[in-house]
Amino acid sequence: MFSEKSLCDSTLGCRAVLTISREAIRHNVKEICKFTGKKIIAVVKSDAYGVGAEQVVPLLSEMDEVEAFAVACAEEGAELREMGVDKDILILGGVFPEELALLKEYNLTPIVSDKAHLKVLKGESIPFHIKYDTGMGRLGFLEETITDPRIVGVMSHFSTPADREFSLSQVEKFKKIASLYPKGLWVHLESSAGLIYKVPFTTHVRVGLALYGEKPLKNYPLSLKPALSLKARVISVKEVPAGHPISYGRTFVAPRKMKIAVISLGYADGLMKSLSNKGYLLYKRKRLPILGNVTMDMTVVDVSGADVSVGDWVEVVSESRTFVDLAKDAGTIPYELMCNLSKRVKRRVV
Ligand SMILES: *Cc1c(COP(=O)(O)O)cnc(C)c1O
Repeated sequence: MFSEKSLCDSTLGCRAVLTISREAIRHNVKEICKFTGKKIIAVVKSDAYGVGAEQVVPLLSEMDEVEAFAVACAEEGAELREMGVDKDILILGGVFPEELALLKEYNLTPIVSDKAHLKVLKGESIPFHIKYDTGMGRLGFLEETITDPRIVGVMSHFSTPADREFSLSQVEKFKKIASLYPKGLWVHLESSAGLIYKVPFTTHVRVGLALYGEKPLKNYPLSLKPALSLKARVISVKEVPAGHPISYGRTFVAPRKMKIAVISLGYADGLMKSLSNKGYLLYKRKRLPILGNVTMDMTVVDVSGADVSVGDWVEVVSESRTFVDLAKDAGTIPYELMCNLSKRVKRRVV
């Protein structure tokens, strides 16, 4: 897809690079749209899940299938506008009085999920969406139905998309609520995993994870293309004798003579410490087990039998080994791994 050399230049740095495939993201947007028959609200909160809003938002913005964006707070919304986004921007995380000026200046659309938010918007002519808690147990009104001429959308959120019975109970509750509102409003419920329910009465889907080709469920019926690849560079290669300890705390001791490589990626970059002595990296399809504790900037791997030299790039995430896979080894979810990718990891779009 790209030459190793092009990964490394003075603008990209030369230690760790997250490559974002434009073609894969475009494919995934079209696939989601085809599968659901609905327009997409692209969820790009927290710097597009750590992938990089600066890289991802422009390419989503130019696609007709993406009708709006959603972020967590007004500040994130303002950043999107500053980047030139002219589609609707929904604010998922409520609204504080201090954010009102930003909402107006940047033409952002808040989602109201508490009486306190209504109070903030009192006397303002700002259109908003209203959120109901049908079983998520986080934001949203429970019983009470809010009517207001400024309401342009109604939404709810799945808590356990993998649980069919519970999710369908949420769909039923939301259906009753949504039917109380006039036709023509935006109605949205499904997130990436929730797409499997093909809810017939919603107009939009709110997706984040699936945009990157990361599958939120086993047996996910959409054919997505992995869009992310993470590589880091070998800083040092050496042989250690049997009995030699590896990394802080000496949690691994070489059982035999071993060839080890030190990789320029650590927990400060997003490679979680829980991968210590557990996960592996890849070099030309060969697994390089992580030895000892992952440290802030560096990780040691076993390269016995692999032809690895200083300066080579090893794979952390690739088409064949996604963040979903890495998350299983790390004992977490792909969302957390992606959000932890630090600024030091250079982003490139190909
Ligand atoms: C983050 C978020 C989404 C997107 O979820 P994905 O699983 O990434 O598709 C949708 N709706 C709400 C309310 C969210 O907070």
